[in-house]
Amino acid sequence: MRKVTIFGSTGSIGENTVDLIARAPEHYDVVVLTGGRNVARLAEQAISLNAELAVTAFDDCYDDLKAALSGTGIEVAAGVAALADAADRKADWFMSAIVGAAGLVPGLRALRHGTILALANKESLVTAGPYLMAEARKYGATILPVDSEHSAVFQALVGEDMKAVERIIITASGGAFRDWPLQALETATLAEASAHPNWDMGQRITIDSASMFNKAMELIETKEFFGVDADKIEAVVHPESLIHALVGFNDGALMAHLGPPDMRHAIGYALHWPDRGHVPVARLDLAQIGSLNFRPADEDRYPALRIARDVMQTGGLSGAAFNASKEAALDAFIAGKIGFQDMARLVDKVLNRLQQRNGLSCDILTLDKVLATDHLARKTTQDMMQDATVR
Ligand code: NAD
Ligand code: MG
Repeated sequence: MRKVTIFGSTGSIGENTVDLIARAPEHYDVVVLTGGRNVARLAEQAISLNAELAVTAFDDCYDDLKAALSGTGIEVAAGVAALADAADRKADWFMSAIVGAAGLVPGLRALRHGTILALANKESLVTAGPYLMAEARKYGATILPVDSEHSAVFQALVGEDMKAVERIIITASGGAFRDWPLQALETATLAEASAHPNWDMGQRITIDSASMFNKAMELIETKEFFGVDADKIEAVVHPESLIHALVGFNDGALMAHLGPPDMRHAIGYALHWPDRGHVPVARLDLAQIGSLNFRPADEDRYPALRIARDVMQTGGLSGAAFNASKEAALDAFIAGKIGFQDMARLVDKVLNRLQQRNGLSCDILTLDKVLATDHLARKTTQDMMQDATVR
């Protein structure tokens, strides 16, 4: 029996995790499930998986969750502190699937119990990579990457020596606009950016895929998780999304990881790790697929990739500033306040300003510094947006 807790169980990754657990309930003891405003779904999940505790991130959702679970014996809690406290309930395996920087603290708290943290929340590594990895080492915890590219790299590295690794290539579908003329991107709408050609994911990561902010985050995630230099990490556009990543070794070999675009593979790998267990994803028919295509990831079309290179170069607090500014710019795009291409322009300007005014390099990251930078970058993004200096 594995005791599991899922942070963000009502989201896209969370639902896929619940799906795998619900198929083999005899193997899992569900401790905590957490969600946001979708309390009806959270309550449904908690009842069907017989969880000990259900937590909503929002205080004003407490009464609804309490009512939905009354008479079930399932405990209920609400708020940011309750969310982090949920990590102290004894479990062996935690899924970190909250979206955004809000996922950082609960995951960190779980690591301090020396457990397994299946990490879908890429923002944790982007904002606080060196700190997160050091905490995992300090407390003897294991982080398993759940982003499909990073799970693929992790699998390609089993039994290998990092010293023999020459490069890591992560693939990108190219998102919703990969075949659009460059000028048309200026007027791309929210609905157009929210439709992914290959993957079914939450809205925020889907828009980040169209802008390649998602791939930009994943380049940084690769550097932080695998501890490789930025110049060894590449992104390539692969429209079919069947190869998720490749690792190149010093003898010229490239190990590629293939699988269907279904997140239950990466989640299932982490759930069964260190073993492999059956996962109900489609099996690829290569003869049917016929061919796989690749094209360069063009930094003119995808300025987010260039920004990611700068962030990897600067290190320190630049990842926290980058992520927070990106989240604020994405909020503004979703709210219809700025255009699709303005997101990268705005983030670029914010990072330049913060670098000039405050300096973003820093030798030793602490959680306080990360959270303060996150706050400052969000505020600076809002201020610069109001100055209408984006274009
Ligand atoms: P989602 O929006 O579908 O779900 C997010 C979850 O977090 C929900 O349970 C929601 O209630 C909760 N949540 C939202 N705001 C919160 C807050 N402020 N505090 C606490 N909880 C909050 O997101 P998703 O697509 O499942 O992505 C989750 C994470 O996994 C993200 O970091 C994303 O980048 C990463 N990821 C997702 C996919 C995918 O296929 N969806 C693939 C790779 C990585
Ligand atoms: Mg990914």
